[in-house]
Amino acid sequence: MRRFVFLIPILLLIACARAPEGTVPEQVDPTRLTIYHNGVVLTMEEDLPQAEAIAIRGEFIERVGSNEEVLALSDEASSIIDLGGRVLMPGFVDAHTHLLNDHRSQGQSLDEAQYSAFSNGITTLGTLYVDRGFLREIQAFDEAGFLRVRTGLYLVATDPCGNKQGDWWKEYPPSDVPGEILRVNGVKIFTDGGACGNVALSFELEPGSGTGDLWFSQEELNEMVAEVDAAGYQAAVHAIGDRAVTQALNAFESVLDGQPNSLRHRMEHVSIIPEQDLPRFGELGIVPVLLGEFPLCTPYGPPVPEEYGQMEWPWRALRAANPDLSIAWHSDVPFQSIDPFDHLLGFVTRIDTVGRGICRPTELQEEHTLSVEEALSIMTIQSAYALRRDDEVGSLAPGKYADLIVLSQNPLEVEPDKLAEIRALLTVAGGRIEYCGMPDKELCSGFTNRDPVPLPDTRPPVLVRWLVALLLVILPVGAMLLRRRRAVMVRRIGGWAGIVGGATWIYGLILSEWSDDEFVFVFMLLPFLMALGTAGLAALWPATTQPSHTFGRFALWFSMFGAISLSLGSVVSEWFDNDAGWGLLLVGLLAHAIGLFLFGLVNLKSRVLSRWNALPVMVGLFSVLVPLVLSILLPESSNLPFELLFGILGGGWVLLGGLLLRSQTPEERTDLAP
Ligand SMILES: [Zn+2]
Repeated sequence: MRRFVFLIPILLLIACARAPEGTVPEQVDPTRLTIYHNGVVLTMEEDLPQAEAIAIRGEFIERVGSNEEVLALSDEASSIIDLGGRVLMPGFVDAHTHLLNDHRSQGQSLDEAQYSAFSNGITTLGTLYVDRGFLREIQAFDEAGFLRVRTGLYLVATDPCGNKQGDWWKEYPPSDVPGEILRVNGVKIFTDGGACGNVALSFELEPGSGTGDLWFSQEELNEMVAEVDAAGYQAAVHAIGDRAVTQALNAFESVLDGQPNSLRHRMEHVSIIPEQDLPRFGELGIVPVLLGEFPLCTPYGPPVPEEYGQMEWPWRALRAANPDLSIAWHSDVPFQSIDPFDHLLGFVTRIDTVGRGICRPTELQEEHTLSVEEALSIMTIQSAYALRRDDEVGSLAPGKYADLIVLSQNPLEVEPDKLAEIRALLTVAGGRIEYCGMPDKELCSGFTNRDPVPLPDTRPPVLVRWLVALLLVILPVGAMLLRRRRAVMVRRIGGWAGIVGGATWIYGLILSEWSDDEFVFVFMLLPFLMALGTAGLAALWPATTQPSHTFGRFALWFSMFGAISLSLGSVVSEWFDNDAGWGLLLVGLLAHAIGLFLFGLVNLKSRVLSRWNALPVMVGLFSVLVPLVLSILLPESSNLPFELLFGILGGGWVLLGGLLLRSQTPEERTDLAP
């Protein structure tokens, strides 16, 4: 029985995993005909760019044309809706967003995130950071029938700092089933900073700021892209700085080797483009995925020096150099605005109104603006191409899915400065109304916006929260005070606490994809076990009067104080919604590590503990030294030292627990009795 104690945290975690939350939509009647007429229908189709009316049967578009042509299809059973001259266009396609995969950090449930896509007029999107944990979550959400925004997934081959994640993605082959809502599209590779550290430039943003780093050599990147290509996935390569853009183009050139880009490999952000690289996108057929909203009001960092200004966001030059190339749009939520009209304003004027007031571009920036028609095409049909869905959405043509929106104003007629004021009044996806933004419901009578299911409150009742917070202090301190009279008991508790704590950490490191809920749970459980373990360690400490031992005891108390602060910090921040908890947590982490370090030093000097019992203490020592040395040696962007700190602490406590128990010989018990 006892040897299975390590299973407890695992079982607890499984119990914590919950079913997805959402609602299953009503089926669309495949025979029902709905006609929207008397409007300006922007189709994004070359042979019929504008029409007056559109007919939808079930999920699909049946006809697009003049009022007479389309109304001729109607019978008594059809619903006929007068657009009153308003603009109707395809739903926006956001080729790269984190709306879904980042929903928790935005305080949203998946259902709420999906609803905010619809309320902003977005009906199809690409999710560009998919790890195993999120993949499981979104698949469960889809299998339950809750997912209705068309979603393409890009599985991560590297993290934002360029740390390779192995080829786990090969277990999930790309899919291409017509009409599927959820689809595995491709694999994401980061080649430079931006989301982690600095982007790779050929110049300095500020004197002395350095030119940033590429995560891979050209050969390494070629190999990675070749592996993705050979397995039949689309490669989505993050490249922001000009060195990264050139390197990514080189990699695509080497992999394609003169063949067309039939898998539609794409490049994300593409912010700084060397002039000589502009035509290479078209030559290779690589889809650049661009932002529309230029963050003038809330810049990410220092501006690009004037002499390199031509290279920053040169969308006009990119379009001109590659007239036939499909270019895609992305919001990159939460890093930029979710509102497609903020991005439309940016594409067309480079004005930014997100954040504070109106921020206007320089003359040079203005040179790279696009027309409304060009931008809308990029934000719909061309983005659908990037997500390999252009045969089913992105434009309005018979046979395609009825994914469409009605706008509050006509973007072709409104003052360019006012483009961001346009709203989606109605969002239809697959023939079903998903959102109505009209108080009088003129276009959507009888429809009520649903309330998306919010994130459930997973916290225990208030009384339990306080009780746990109290126990987190009382139990380890009590154990520490008891250690003289009940040394064996305290050691036993400390030993098991160490084993369970270490096993929990190692289980977490193996999975390395906690959901946030699980992570909070672990963050509370673990430091608590660490504190108990420290108390157990104290029981090993012989009662002597040597000054160095007094110092050793102080180090142990200090380490325990750190573990208690760490767990209290997570309780305070997560259960009592108080940000002060994060400070407590960090101070706790530091104090715990320093305490163990000092204890290790004292033991080295006085050899109070036996060699074996000193081992876990040495681990405590290394848990401070190793990350410190690594953080000096490694580039600042790497988060490896932090992960190592956690890993070594976790492993250390397993050792500690095991060794404390191992030393439970009868002789030792007598030795240690006060
Ligand atoms: Zn992104």
